[in-house]
Amino acid sequence: MPRKIVYGENAAKDFKYPENSLVITTTTPDIYNKWLDYMGVKNYEVYDKITPDPAIETVEAVKKSFEGKNVSTFIGLGGGSSMDVCKYLGKLTGIPKILIPTTFGTGAEMTTYAVISFEHKKKLLQDEAFLADAAIVDPYFLPGTPYNIMRNSACDAAAQASEGYDSKLGNPLTRLFCKEAFDILEDAIVNDKPNLLPYGAMLSGIGFGNSSTTLGHALSYVFSNEGVPHGYSLSSCTTVAHRFNKSIYYERFKRICQKLKFEPLKLKQPLDQAADVIMPDRGHLDNNPIPVTKEDIVKCLENIVNMNPLEQVIEEPR
Ligand SMILES: [Zn+2]
Repeated sequence: MPRKIVYGENAAKDFKYPENSLVITTTTPDIYNKWLDYMGVKNYEVYDKITPDPAIETVEAVKKSFEGKNVSTFIGLGGGSSMDVCKYLGKLTGIPKILIPTTFGTGAEMTTYAVISFEHKKKLLQDEAFLADAAIVDPYFLPGTPYNIMRNSACDAAAQASEGYDSKLGNPLTRLFCKEAFDILEDAIVNDKPNLLPYGAMLSGIGFGNSSTTLGHALSYVFSNEGVPHGYSLSSCTTVAHRFNKSIYYERFKRICQKLKFEPLKLKQPLDQAADVIMPDRGHLDNNPIPVTKEDIVKCLENIVNMNPLEQVIEEPR
């Protein structure tokens, strides 16, 4: 876990930020200027050209943008993409990083994971050097989040908590965090209590960040590679993976996705070819609770794209 974690109302406001920071964000000036005012950051520069699913070229472009300047700290302010770029830059340069999520889904502020694309393929990387020097979780950033971004983030957090619970790398302590995270996220989503999302996503990050995600995330990347948002692709992928794994979270995760009204997924590339892309993703597949063959992957993909796994089955009265 990050050495310093600050959570709660005004956490981002009360934090003392170092001067000469580089703020890395995906948002636009009308939004981040308001945020930076609230945070009281002084003498900073902003890099705001981060796009979702960042590529290694993006990381290099940011690095180039501040060459010769005396940057003291990176501040990753935004969704998972901003934080992942920060993490990779921190590893490359040794410059400290402060991570501040504004969408509450990936839990990236808590983990040693970063997802960066190489040659248009998303890669899950893990390194102790990716860990934040400080993580700040403040529900201030929640209001105003577009519904679509909020539901994708909530779905990601719930997928990570439940896949993390089932992960072969899990232990009683990580399962404690994953279970608590899922309970809170489920309550937040099913009972319309969005103010619980930041805490749920944070606990999910601690839980899965010290175990791993599994088959659901492995399946989802072929959809992301075709432009489907991460959380959206997990709605069907993690549901099908939970069914395959006979996860205790199968029904509850599906109910969350139904509540969030996710549409079925489509895939342009042939399923067999997609399975060939998924199979080398050992970081996810080796930690799946049961072994997965290429045939299993093709079957899961068939379930995802040809049958709607989120369809509500109305039980016939007996
Ligand atoms: Zn995820």
